[in-house]
Amino acid sequence: MPHRPYIVGNWKMNGLRAAMSEARSIDRGAQRHPGVRVGIAPPFTLVHAMAETGQNLFVGGQDCHAQPSGAFTGEVSAPMLKDAGAVFVIVGHSERRAMHGESDAMVQAKADAAIAAGLDVIVCVGETEAERDAGRAEAVVDAQLEGSLPRGEGDAARVTVAYEPVWAIGTGRVPSVDDVAAMHAAIRAHLLAIYGDGGAAVRILYGGSVNAGNANELLAVAEVGGALVGGASLTADSFLQIVAAAGPAED
Ligand code: PEP
Repeated sequence: MPHRPYIVGNWKMNGLRAAMSEARSIDRGAQRHPGVRVGIAPPFTLVHAMAETGQNLFVGGQDCHAQPSGAFTGEVSAPMLKDAGAVFVIVGHSERRAMHGESDAMVQAKADAAIAAGLDVIVCVGETEAERDAGRAEAVVDAQLEGSLPRGEGDAARVTVAYEPVWAIGTGRVPSVDDVAAMHAAIRAHLLAIYGDGGAAVRILYGGSVNAGNANELLAVAEVGGALVGGASLTADSFLQIVAAAGPAED
């Protein structure tokens, strides 16, 4: 594993201000696991509050616009996220690709904008169930990487890839460890092809129904550098069990 493991919670469209108590508990818990990098991407409305409160948390956005400002009603730009205290942003989540028609080119433009604003980016890729059944999982992910990853000088140091099979998100189903290992190896090869030596240090997270019960097994797979966690990141209790699976507590 090139760095300390990275466990990131994606709160999606969940979390009113009352949920800040969970964030504070996660922050306190993260302090006990200094060997683990812990991030949360709350809804935009909580980014600033969480960034102000968190001492041991990396706070990020779940998406950003490709333009820094302008007439884009309802959108949030990368500089705005940075200004609110975010240090990273997720781009290309499958829910955005599917529900908002985001193409690889759009995801790449967002990643470029995020890096230009000084944010790190988590670029999500992953195949649908039909694509896996058709034996096309690696080809699909390969094409997504090719089209979505930022290509600027030094960008490799700002990028994390999240492999999230669409059929595993929110379903309780996870791929076999062999399938995770094969896909992560393929992603690593692609990263090396794009970034050269810089591709060796890019973290590759697994995402899709990670929970306290399966985290140990998934995090032990070769080339799995952490996890992107949806549902199980919403409470400190379940999220911290995943953090604990990634690295021991130090008192
Ligand atoms: C996600 O949406 O990024 C995700 C991994 O969700 P879940 O953990 O709920 O499957």
